[in-house]
Amino acid sequence: MKETKTNPKIAIVSLTSCEGCQFVLLDLGEKFLSLMDQVEMVDFRLLEDEEDKGDPLDIGIVEGNPVTEDNVKTLKSLRDRSKVLIVLGNCAAMGGIPEVKNYQEGKGTIKHVYKYLQGITNPEIKEVDNFVEVDFTFPGCPITGEEFLYYFERIIETVKKGNLSGLPEIPDQPVCIQCRKLGNRCLLLDKKPCFGPMILGGCNAVCPTSRMVCQGCRGLRPKGNVEAMKQMFRKQEMMTDQEFEDTTEIYGLRDNISELESK
Ligand code: SF4
Ligand code: SF4
Ligand code: SF4
Repeated sequence: MKETKTNPKIAIVSLTSCEGCQFVLLDLGEKFLSLMDQVEMVDFRLLEDEEDKGDPLDIGIVEGNPVTEDNVKTLKSLRDRSKVLIVLGNCAAMGGIPEVKNYQEGKGTIKHVYKYLQGITNPEIKEVDNFVEVDFTFPGCPITGEEFLYYFERIIETVKKGNLSGLPEIPDQPVCIQCRKLGNRCLLLDKKPCFGPMILGGCNAVCPTSRMVCQGCRGLRPKGNVEAMKQMFRKQEMMTDQEFEDTTEIYGLRDNISELESK
C-alpha cells in the first residue's frame, strides 16, 4: 500500500449497543473535532445525517454487539470495505454486559423479561472477532477518550504511510500502574477484591480512584495471572470461587478465562 495523499476515509458504525462509547468521542469536544480534521468522515450518525454510499474505507470503526442478522451483515460489509477495522468498547470486543445473558440461559432468564416468547429471537451474544478479523481494539465500558485520541492519531499516521504492520499496540500493563501513580490506597489492603492486577490498564484507574473495585471492563492482560488472583481472593476470604466466576460475567471476562484455562 502506498502513502495516501488525501485524508483517510473513515466510518463509525454502531451495531446493538448503548452508544456510550460513541458519546465518549463527542464528549472530547474540540479535541475530537480537530482529530477529525485529519480524516474524511463518511459515516457517524451521531454527528451527521448523510447517507453512507458504501464506498471503500481506510478505517472502519465498530461499536456494539453483532446480535441481529442485519448487524452481522453490516459488520461483514464494514470489514470488506475497510483496510483497518477498529473495535470500540467492551461490547464489541468482549460481548460486554449483554453477554451475561449467555451464562444465565440455563435459568430461562428470557422468561423473566418477556411474558410471551412467540416471535422473540434470542441469539447467543458473540463478540465481533467471532465474525471478522479485527486490527485494533479500544477496550473499556466505555472507552477512554484520551486513549482514543492518542492511539487513533497513530493509526491515522500508519494508514497514511501505507504500512499496516506498524499499527500501535496498547502495552501490557495492569490497572495498578496508574492506580499507584495516582497515590490511591490499594483496595486489596482493605480486603476488597479488585481485579486490577490481571486487567489491561489505560483507563486512569477510574474505579479504584472512586474506591470501587476494578471488575475488568478492559479485559485480561496478556500476562495477567488469573489463577493467582483467584487463589489470593479465596485465601484472604475476599471472594469465593463462585463469586469470582459471577463477577467475571459482568464484562464478558468469563469466556476469555475459560479459553485460557482450556489451553
Ligand atoms: S462498551 Fe459499554 S459504553 Fe460502550 S457500547 Fe457497550 S455498554 Fe455502551
Ligand atoms: S486498588 Fe486495585 S488497581 Fe489499585 S493498586 Fe490495588 S489492586 Fe491495583
Ligand atoms: S478500573 Fe477496571 S472496571 Fe474500571 S474502567 Fe478501569 S478496567 Fe474498567
